[in-house]
Amino acid sequence: MINAKYAGLGKVRSVIRELFEYGNARKAQIGADKVFDFSLGNPNVPPPAELNAEMLDLLNNTDAVTLHGYTSAQGAYNVRKAVSDYIIKSFGASVDPDCIYMTCGAAAALTITLCALCNEGDEVITFVPYFPEYAVFASQAGAKLVPVHTKDSTFRMDFQALRGALTKNTKAVIINSPNNPAGIIYSEAEIRELCAILEEQSRKNGAPVYLISDEPYRELVYGGEHVPYVMNFYKNSIVCYSFSKSLSIPGERIGYIAVNGEAEERGEVYAAVCGAGRSLGYVCAPSLLQQLAARMIGRTSDISEYKTNRDILCSALESFGFSVVKPQGAFYLFVKSPEEDAGAFAERAKKYELLLVPGDDFGCKGYVRIAYCVSRDMIERSLPAFRALAESYKNS
Ligand code: PLP
Repeated sequence: MINAKYAGLGKVRSVIRELFEYGNARKAQIGADKVFDFSLGNPNVPPPAELNAEMLDLLNNTDAVTLHGYTSAQGAYNVRKAVSDYIIKSFGASVDPDCIYMTCGAAAALTITLCALCNEGDEVITFVPYFPEYAVFASQAGAKLVPVHTKDSTFRMDFQALRGALTKNTKAVIINSPNNPAGIIYSEAEIRELCAILEEQSRKNGAPVYLISDEPYRELVYGGEHVPYVMNFYKNSIVCYSFSKSLSIPGERIGYIAVNGEAEERGEVYAAVCGAGRSLGYVCAPSLLQQLAARMIGRTSDISEYKTNRDILCSALESFGFSVVKPQGAFYLFVKSPEEDAGAFAERAKKYELLLVPGDDFGCKGYVRIAYCVSRDMIERSLPAFRALAESYKNS
């Protein structure tokens, strides 16, 4: 008898993947330029020009063992040192190389972290709307994901709702800012209040409630917003970072876990991270990519391209009568569905060859997500389809 839980997970594709596959089939049928695929968060802006140069320099001037051999399970020392130096320099947080664990992107970072922290029956809180894979990662760790309501239409943190969700079983809270799918950034005031509540709950529980910050979009901010660094506000915190979006290299699978050097059980937490990585087989992230990350840390692809995409889409959609949550960061736009059922809206959008992801899987009914990390040309060509979609509601 094979494992039914995994077989089930393997058979059911996420709604996003389902739509992406539908888009590929539709493109083959009617032509790629006729389909407006806003389904996937695959960055279209190329990586920074220096990335290829750094890669070539590494390939030409580094010994084969450093490039292609095993590193320590937690990552090469020089890479972990580069990451911790960067965190100290940029955010003033207290970390060292033995707080850092290199991973295959944020997905592995989150799975390892949750497995490291949670015991069977623990609860992990997150705010709505949230990245749907959190539920899968939490379940892998034997924990239950507890989505917490946020303020209507702004998606700001609702502290009353948070207090109502905290229990003696709460092991961690995951935040994601800038947020996929709503693009909001939690302010310093929100982070401070969140941390004060978690301190209080930790005292009640007699054990830390950890704060996990999922940060694949940290650098993708528009208009000079500040993304507070959680380690500066809460000692029992862990950052799960990915280079996927900042450098436009999601297929290369590189990121890291940073455990706050000031965490109460810092040594035990890091040991558990290493143990979880070991038991999941997530050891020794790709060596070449580790070395590349160490060289590229702090640099980004041209984020201004996304800002222009955001501005074009927001103003066009609003002028057609749609109501949008203007994103402060990341590259997603959350649009209110003109009918109650966002799934029905997304189905109707397909008739106009617009592929939009219903928000239900993000824990939020009545919205669809548009990933605007796509070509400017496609955005501009899609606008008449959005207009026609809006008009179809006025006429019905
Ligand atoms: N967390 C969020 C909020 C994401 O949007 C994604 C990917 O889209 C991930 C984690 C996983 O990122 P990675 O490609 O680094 O595994």
